[in-house]
Amino acid sequence: MFAIRVEQVGGPEVIEGVEVPDPEPSAGELLVRVGAAGVNFIDTYQRSGLYPVPLPHHLGLEGAGTVVEVGEGVTGFAPGDRVAWADAPGSYAELAVVPAERAVPVPDGVGVDEAAAVMLQGMTAHYLTHDTFPLAPGHRCLVHAGAGGVGLLLVQLARMRGAEVFATAGTEEKRELARSTGAHHVVPYLDSSGSDFGDAVEAIAGPHALDVVYDGVGQQTFTRGLSLLRPRGTMVTFGNASGPVEAVSPLALSQGGSLYLTRPTLWHYVTDRPDLLRRAGDVLGWVRDGRLDVRIGGRLPLAEAASAHRLLEGRRTTGKVLLAP
Ligand code: NDP
Repeated sequence: MFAIRVEQVGGPEVIEGVEVPDPEPSAGELLVRVGAAGVNFIDTYQRSGLYPVPLPHHLGLEGAGTVVEVGEGVTGFAPGDRVAWADAPGSYAELAVVPAERAVPVPDGVGVDEAAAVMLQGMTAHYLTHDTFPLAPGHRCLVHAGAGGVGLLLVQLARMRGAEVFATAGTEEKRELARSTGAHHVVPYLDSSGSDFGDAVEAIAGPHALDVVYDGVGQQTFTRGLSLLRPRGTMVTFGNASGPVEAVSPLALSQGGSLYLTRPTLWHYVTDRPDLLRRAGDVLGWVRDGRLDVRIGGRLPLAEAASAHRLLEGRRTTGKVLLAP
């Protein structure tokens, strides 16, 4: 089969397509013909070395497809079933081995592309809005990169929870997309007069008005975001798209208003099968019912994985990017 691998860490140029023997499922595993593989920022961190992985490394964590074989002891899945997953290394491939306990059924009415597009980013938006800081009517939140993969889903789930949603995005086209997806106020990071997103939020809501900032951009937005929080507000720094956030003094949190700071990761919010079935079930159910709009902003052939990484890291994507084997 054809698969995408890196033998050393580095830029997108280290990504190579290779022919490897078809994998075989061991006990408890499914062999799946991948219909679509999801591209996520974490794939770029694993490729670049920001998140170390053993080498050589087969890229990709997320996908959806059709079961072709089940390993010994697997119950609940059979060849022909449509399944999706967010955590099976080597998903940028024609065939993927997926532990059965990490696979979920794709409901009727949800396409394989949609399922692959919404597993990792959808469950992320789910835990951020329901558990890390459970939004409720009356809350004001800020979503950075509001036209991105996580961003567009986060905007919709924050709206679903009844919050007032502020969002940032890098271009007017992206801002329009975030607006049309439901964000109440969408602002640039920096406008032509030199005012930043914080000035724009303060002009609308006043100083220290936000209950929570959801920040997947990281280095370039973290400090200003902190300054917008109300006393005892929560900073959720959940990603490093512009680089990792530097060390923070606990005193800065005190001086900022007894703030809460958390750096969550999906895997700590999906710790067992009931968690996975509940979160993925909610997200896929909302897609099926038309309550959650999944925007697939790009679909590239598997062999163009390096281009997909360049587009994502170059801020040239909106919504989800998929690779098609
Ligand atoms: P996106 O589709 O959101 O792409 C990243 C976006 O970040 C870009 O489109 C861009 O939007 C914005 N951005 C701002 N500054 C930069 C920069 N210097 N370089 C690149 N992008 C920049 O990606 P994902 O939805 O896959 O991920 C979003 C974030 O969420 C990432 O940081 C990712 O690591 C994190 N994440 C964290 C998870 C967790 O559980 N902790 C799980 C899933 C994702 P714009 O041009 O509008 O600024």
